[in-house]
Amino acid sequence: MKRSIERVISPRPIHFVGDGFRVQNFIPSTHGLEMKRMDPFIFLDYNEPHFFEPTSTPRGVDVHPHRGFETVTVAFQGKVAHHDSAGNSGIVSPGGVQWMTAASGVLHKEYHEEGFARAGGIFHMAQLWVNLPAKNKMDPPSYQGLDAQDIPSVSLPYGGQLHVIAGEFHGVKGGATTHSPMHLYRIELPQGSSADIQLPMHFNTAFLVLSGSVHVSGLEDSSAPEGHFVLMDNDGTDFSIQAAQNAHLLLLSGEPLNEPIAASGPFVMNHRHELQEAMQDFYAGKFGQLD
Ligand code: MN
Repeated sequence: MKRSIERVISPRPIHFVGDGFRVQNFIPSTHGLEMKRMDPFIFLDYNEPHFFEPTSTPRGVDVHPHRGFETVTVAFQGKVAHHDSAGNSGIVSPGGVQWMTAASGVLHKEYHEEGFARAGGIFHMAQLWVNLPAKNKMDPPSYQGLDAQDIPSVSLPYGGQLHVIAGEFHGVKGGATTHSPMHLYRIELPQGSSADIQLPMHFNTAFLVLSGSVHVSGLEDSSAPEGHFVLMDNDGTDFSIQAAQNAHLLLLSGEPLNEPIAASGPFVMNHRHELQEAMQDFYAGKFGQLD
């Protein structure tokens, strides 16, 4: 059964996170896309391609906490360096993904990688927040650092490549382990090619057009240019994405957790009192140490 488009969301206002991430917020979005609509994907910051001047002081976000979810950073151009209070660190390079499970809590900092900062260049990145099921919110923190070669690719029958970051596609399993059923794909489509996508109807599904321009088959007004976020309806399973120009997409699809959400800044829990506990634990130093 065909899945139709619910909305095509145009680029959002730009703001800075720290001094290194020039982002638009698609989830939650200022024009009505609530945190719950893409459950379990509760947040999406998108740094469209942007040139940063060379600097000897890497730009970024200094030490801050997270609890109750996962931050997933997908690099398209430029490099991000990460350090956290659980002792994990890594560099996210183009085609790579950092899947940080904050769970019960970490402190971390996110900066442009030193060499990239010194040389300057185009920075292009997305950060998703993936909610954790209530039963996993207070698990110990963990970390998956995936380089491009750790992410399996599938050659599409009509041309193009689909990189399985998480979940699976045509029996090929993704590079990252998740806590609930979901799929995360990076898709490269040459002009004139198409990708046939089939996902369970109740999985919340959307894709971001990183570059190029696409159409969704069977619908008249279905064009999605660069920088647009296409929210699919939950009215069917199948859709086909056709590349009007060479296109690069990030597709997210997940089974909703359908649990209550209480969110405040860097903490995402189920109930308000758990947010107070998170604050108390943070001020009591229970998230560990990070300089
Ligand atoms: Mn963070």
